[in-house]
Amino acid sequence: MAKKFKRVPPDIPVSDLSPLNISCGSTKCDDGLHCFKTSERTAKKFGSHGVCKECGTSLIDWKRVHLNDINDAKFIFESMKNELIRHIYWHTPIEQDAITNALKSTRNELRTHAKRILKSKIGSSKNAWDGRQTPMTGNEIVHYAQHATATCCRKCLEYWHNIKKDEDLTDEQLEFCTELAMLYIEERVPNIDDKRSEENGKS
Ligand SMILES: [Zn+2]
Ligand SMILES: [Zn+2]
Repeated sequence: MAKKFKRVPPDIPVSDLSPLNISCGSTKCDDGLHCFKTSERTAKKFGSHGVCKECGTSLIDWKRVHLNDINDAKFIFESMKNELIRHIYWHTPIEQDAITNALKSTRNELRTHAKRILKSKIGSSKNAWDGRQTPMTGNEIVHYAQHATATCCRKCLEYWHNIKKDEDLTDEQLEFCTELAMLYIEERVPNIDDKRSEENGKS
């Protein structure tokens, strides 16, 4: 099994890391890749929430990110890429099976599929497995999208999207998460069809 790092040692380049080497809390601060999941303890230590839990750096415009404006997704994603875990999911290769499977569906089918998965993984406030419910790798593209967009668990959802852990998601919140996931999928898996190819072939 791949070694999981809490703090990635300086001699291991980011390019050598895969999702199996990291978890939500991993950091590589010397390369500018942090983790903004501040606990009460770290918030006390650094005198503020929303800073890197390891080095205390403050990089995120939380007010703007927490508007949850899908039209500002580019800014949200750029902000997220300051975290090691999101960076890895945006930049390292995705398993071929996940891409092949995604390409079997049309965009609309994928969207419906993504929304269903999001609902089952993070829709409810009650999940005893929170933080572990979304596989890190495998053949499901939506799982990659979830880690990349901080819609993987209720903890990530809370600090990135300001959605409180003790509330079930509203349909509007679920739609927002689905849009984020789809933007990721469309960037990482280009050439998703609008229609089935057999339909395209018909006149
Ligand atoms: Zn840091
Ligand atoms: Zn998470």
